[in-house]
Amino acid sequence: MLYYSTNGKAPKATLAEAVVKGLAPDRGLYMPERLEKLPQSFYDTIDTLSFQEISYRVASALFGEDIPADDLKKIVYDTLSFETPVVHIDGNIYTEELFHGPTLAFKDVGARFMARLLGYFNKNEKRLVNVLVATSGDTGSAVANGFLGVEGVHVYVLYPKGKVSPIQECQFTTLGQNITALEIDGVFDDCQALVKSAFMDQQLNDHMKLTSANSINVARFLPQAFYYFNAYAQMKKLGKADNMVICVPSGNFGNITAGLFGWFMGLPVKRFIAANNANDIFYKYLQTGVYSPKPSVQTLANAMDVGDPSNFARVLALYKGSHKDIAAHIAGATYSDAQIAETIADTFNRTGYVLDPHGACGYRALQEGLADGEQGVFIETAHPAKFKEKVDAILGGDIEIPAKLQAFMKGTKQSVELGKDFEGFKQFLLNQ
Ligand SMILES: *Cc1c(COP(=O)(O)O)cnc(C)c1O
Repeated sequence: MLYYSTNGKAPKATLAEAVVKGLAPDRGLYMPERLEKLPQSFYDTIDTLSFQEISYRVASALFGEDIPADDLKKIVYDTLSFETPVVHIDGNIYTEELFHGPTLAFKDVGARFMARLLGYFNKNEKRLVNVLVATSGDTGSAVANGFLGVEGVHVYVLYPKGKVSPIQECQFTTLGQNITALEIDGVFDDCQALVKSAFMDQQLNDHMKLTSANSINVARFLPQAFYYFNAYAQMKKLGKADNMVICVPSGNFGNITAGLFGWFMGLPVKRFIAANNANDIFYKYLQTGVYSPKPSVQTLANAMDVGDPSNFARVLALYKGSHKDIAAHIAGATYSDAQIAETIADTFNRTGYVLDPHGACGYRALQEGLADGEQGVFIETAHPAKFKEKVDAILGGDIEIPAKLQAFMKGTKQSVELGKDFEGFKQFLLNQ
């Protein structure tokens, strides 16, 4: 299958090219040319299949023309070595917990899948692929752990010195092997600017093969479609799959876009809700039809602090630019920090369930937005312990840190300190 660019000015690319390049040469995002509807028999029996079986079937529809069945199966099964259970919260509201992966973030699946796919496509090349990733915390941990030990790939994680939580820092500075942590004397935007400049620097690109691992990469965002098929299967098992509404806490819109791909592949979901924090660009777009990006503001749900969601271009492409169709199928919601805190406290007091600040936006949007007869599933995107200080302050408690997270705290930190000037960063890479 070929991939086209949302900007329409680049040649179509093969899957391998799209994965290795990341962004298209016209700076657009790659989109698969076709989305195949899966047969009704698959949906009729989906509740009898495991998460791995469901995902392999979905992956075959997306990638089956480009990767031999046995290799693809191995990639999918190795990626999904954990489950994403659906849990009942209250009334007609359920959550799919996507935080059972190695770094307790939903980004684990995309990162692990992309690592294996990149390793697969690069296995006969002599040159190493170098992944550059700028992080304010979560992406770096998922990518570093997803790529750990993958042959033929080296990862550089750029993070702002002193600005990520101690747990997050341990998750990408203690790994060693093919993971190098670069501690930048600046803020997240400086890290991102360094990565962008590196991709545009001819001398660096001649010296080494560079790619990115954020959700612009098809190999990172598409596997997230697995979650939505799994949610449907589990709701069907509970006899609750009719009139199902899925609500996704959204920032860069990679996750929800993967869900929309599922819908275009025939997944019987009635509609979607995109839950935003105070960064309400998509919400405003739904109301007005006008997309006006603006600088992000800092919130309690900081992984959604995005002022110009990259994957909006993919949403537009899916619906051929029709605001009417988008607004008919996706509802929006936006919540302030005060509302997020109130929702975490209220939900815990009533149900005993501890939401993280991102999931809280999702829960609240269902609470306010579900119609009679609808069943809602919101995506819980991270374990609350990843935001321990915030959640503890809201609940006045001391939530437990899962053993998996604690294990990271035991390693020894290794990082390379660099300034925020491009020349220093470039010299460092040229010397590798
Ligand atoms: C990345 C992230 C999000 C936002 O996902 P997008 O795909 O960027 O919309 C939401 N919650 C958490 C915890 C995240 O890490």
